Amino acid sequence: MRTPATDEVIDLCRDLIRIDTTNTGDLATSAGERAAAEYVATKLSEVGLDPQLFESRPGRASVVTRIPGADSSRGALLVHGHLDVVPADASEWSVHPFSGEIKDDFIWGRGAVDMKDFDAMSLAVVRDWQRTGYVPPRDIVLAYTADEEAGSDWGAKFLVEEHPDLFEGCTEAIGEVGGFSYTVSNDLRLYMVQTAEKGIDWLRVHATGRPGHGSFVHDDNAVTALAEAVARVGRHRFPVVVTPTVRAFLEEVGEALQIEIDPNDPEAAIAKLGPIATMIGATIRNTANPTRLSAGYKDNVIPGRASATIDCRTLPGQFELFREQLMEVLGPDLEIESIHRQPALETGFDGALVDAMALALKAEDPGAHAVPYMLSGGTDAKSFARLGIRCFGFAPLRLPPDLNFSALFHGIDERVPVEGLQFGVRVLDRFLRQS
Ligand SMILES: [Zn+2]
Repeated sequence: MRTPATDEVIDLCRDLIRIDTTNTGDLATSAGERAAAEYVATKLSEVGLDPQLFESRPGRASVVTRIPGADSSRGALLVHGHLDVVPADASEWSVHPFSGEIKDDFIWGRGAVDMKDFDAMSLAVVRDWQRTGYVPPRDIVLAYTADEEAGSDWGAKFLVEEHPDLFEGCTEAIGEVGGFSYTVSNDLRLYMVQTAEKGIDWLRVHATGRPGHGSFVHDDNAVTALAEAVARVGRHRFPVVVTPTVRAFLEEVGEALQIEIDPNDPEAAIAKLGPIATMIGATIRNTANPTRLSAGYKDNVIPGRASATIDCRTLPGQFELFREQLMEVLGPDLEIESIHRQPALETGFDGALVDAMALALKAEDPGAHAVPYMLSGGTDAKSFARLGIRCFGFAPLRLPPDLNFSALFHGIDERVPVEGLQFGVRVLDRFLRQS
């Protein structure tokens, strides 16, 4: 069914993709977030809303507005999406990554699924409401943020720390990454609602040794010590821990696929899930991946110090235990420095809001079955959860069965199906009206 919102979402999504909001993680080279924020603010004020723009650093802008509901005494619902994207190298793409081109019934471009699609969907829905005079059941706070792709410091984290009043009364939130379909059969699609996300623990480890001449016999080389520790960590598999979210997911998947999944040994079953196996496989254990190395300043000088960065991701409730296990793998001689840490999140898959998600999906897709899952990455939800807000990943999208959705995130040829996007608008509209 076509509506003004399902028509408009296409242009909104393409316009947003065309505003290059590449976030390199470096203030000097990131750009475009201010232009995107101004675009969003214009689209909101055009229909009578009163958006506020917040610039945390020059160019790093976010937009927030509140739509008063029929019953403002109820807790407000936060609907959030980030405006920045990760870099894209045009030479690797089939179309220009900032073209927003439509080809083969997809909108192509960086941000098409992460997450200008959802930004466009929420804009399309509320613009339609404003034009028709619709008032939602409770207050809705809309937030479009900068800097999610580099840890949220200049976006969600800044808003939560400097302007917490904007989120006054918000009890629940929806944002990325969830609500997309995983096709089991023609008449059964699991829609993966994110109810948990892993914690982030980026570490720098340092090995020290005796500096010296590269031509001598040397038994205390920092590079060697670091390399051994990094190799041990990189090859180590931490034990399987099945949290309540993952257990619920595995039960649902086992039932849907009619396979037996041993919740204490789920690896073999997860491997059979196809493309989403990568996503799910990372949520049954803590992980530690070496990502950067640095040592030395000359080819014939043995340096006194060598360093590596390790990207660790921890399951809910596992942080202390994980650190102990990691120290055992690294050994006693390395110095550990914490660079960036954000806790894991987990909430139950229950309550009126979850019911509203399941019903809205079912109304638009009779084969829909909503299931909870855990995201292995981190999102702006980590910042909003600090305000006591219960966060869900629910950006509804119906996907073609053969699309490798998880590979599109930060991937080459990122694209979103036009029909899926329009489906998302209809589901989001229904959901918000029932929330
Ligand atoms: Zn994202």
